[in-house]
Amino acid sequence: MKAVVVHAPMNFGVEDVPEPQMQPAGMLLKVDACALCGSDLRTLRSGHRKVTLPWIIGHEIAGTVVELGADYAGPWGVGERLAVAPVVYCGVCDFCQDGRYALCENYKEIAQIWPGGFAETIAIPPEAVQHGTIRAVPRHIDPAFVAVTEPISSCIHAQEKGQVGLGDTVVIIGAGPVGCIHTALARTKGADKIYIADIVDERLEMAEAFAPDATINVAKTDLVAEVRRLTQGKGADVVITATPAPIAQVQAVEIARKGGRILLFGGLPAGKSKPGIDTNIIHYNGLHLIGTTIFAPRHHRLAVKLVTSAQFPVDKLITHRFPLSDFVKGATVALEGKALKVVFFPGS
Ligand SMILES: [Zn+2]
Ligand SMILES: [Zn+2]
Repeated sequence: MKAVVVHAPMNFGVEDVPEPQMQPAGMLLKVDACALCGSDLRTLRSGHRKVTLPWIIGHEIAGTVVELGADYAGPWGVGERLAVAPVVYCGVCDFCQDGRYALCENYKEIAQIWPGGFAETIAIPPEAVQHGTIRAVPRHIDPAFVAVTEPISSCIHAQEKGQVGLGDTVVIIGAGPVGCIHTALARTKGADKIYIADIVDERLEMAEAFAPDATINVAKTDLVAEVRRLTQGKGADVVITATPAPIAQVQAVEIARKGGRILLFGGLPAGKSKPGIDTNIIHYNGLHLIGTTIFAPRHHRLAVKLVTSAQFPVDKLITHRFPLSDFVKGATVALEGKALKVVFFPGS
């Protein structure tokens, strides 16, 4: 079959590889669509600590079941269209037992320890059938919409932790796809004012499609002063950092309203994760500093519901579509920062 193989940083391409091996309790999917994630871009650029190259990446997957293993006992049948998010929980740690799946101590991911979805076919391992994040979706839904339910799940989880809701003023730092998802989601949840900041005008222009109340170019304007001005000196109820820039975390604390919630959504590069936050501001202003990563099965369920309803502008999120054979071309657009979500279709 055809698949994208990453051999080394900035050395990848579409190649012929052997068909994936289905385990007896697993299943085989034809990949209908697979979206490129920010973390995939990092892997393409510089590798990934949990991925041993050469490797097939791609973890935002829409696929159709084509074959079931002899011992398969899952709920899905041949011909069903599935949304496959990569997270596979262990099901036995204290957190899983408590239903707090996003904190699972032993979670594994498809495309890290099992080959990923930038391929014509993917084998879903038994562990994912049992404790993964897989949901059936109606056939009439665009597979590109189905693929991007994964990053939407992470954002739903984060905004749940940050209790984003009616009347909130929300500032999102970083206007990549994740910042745009957060903008649309905050709107869906009833936020009053939503401001999105970035250092690149081109990205802020793409973010306009999600109807923020204002965009702020922080290369030209001081973010702290601008948020103070926009909020009559009060600051934002919620600040979401959706960028690997350490300064965003420092400024998030400075632009939050007293009692505000700060969601540290984007991780920082290794060696840069002590950005010099003024913790006295957290102390005296009673701020809530909230870490968030991955998601639980229910967030994936909500994401599927959201994209299958008309409530979420998922069409605006997908700026580029390519056949899988044009992976290098599509990935280049994304690596140059000229896209929101780039989705690949192995079948076309
Ligand atoms: Zn992703
Ligand atoms: Zn667990």
